[in-house]
Amino acid sequence: MDTDCSSEFSMVRGMLQEHSGMNPILLDRDILRDHNAEVRVHPCHWDGCPMHIAVEHKQVSKHLQQHHNINTSATSEDTEQISCLWTGCRHAMKPGNLPRHILSHLGVRWMCSTCEASLSREDAFRRHALEKGCQHAKAVVKYGDGSLVIDTVCIDGGWSASQNVVCIP
Ligand SMILES: [Zn+2]
Ligand SMILES: [Zn+2]
Ligand SMILES: [Zn+2]
Repeated sequence: MDTDCSSEFSMVRGMLQEHSGMNPILLDRDILRDHNAEVRVHPCHWDGCPMHIAVEHKQVSKHLQQHHNINTSATSEDTEQISCLWTGCRHAMKPGNLPRHILSHLGVRWMCSTCEASLSREDAFRRHALEKGCQHAKAVVKYGDGSLVIDTVCIDGGWSASQNVVCIP
């Protein structure tokens, strides 16, 4: 990041803070590139992280790599386990399993359209949908209370005063 970008970023951040009286929602610029209408985001509670992350496996994985230096492709036998630093969690696992684990911290649930069973992971739902009676079930995705939808169309130039959002350069 060059200094021009980062000083503009802190200026906008300060301006939004003053305007709304609240900490602006900090997003990664990639989120805008990968979404053309809306994106659901949730605060990241990894070790005091100030950002919001998009509630999607791919984006969670990217965020962990870029902002928390975690190699989320490390799943091999000899990969050492690390602790999840999410507030209130110290679960140990291989870094490659973290994105899916973090999604469960974001309050996403997969509900079975047939029996209304509620699963915390998509793979668990897929296993569930193999069971007798639920083979034709669809997943109804429900999001946690802490999440919100951001309209990415309104974020011209990387920030939006009406949504109190600023993208990290
Ligand atoms: Zn984070
Ligand atoms: Zn955790
Ligand atoms: Zn079911």
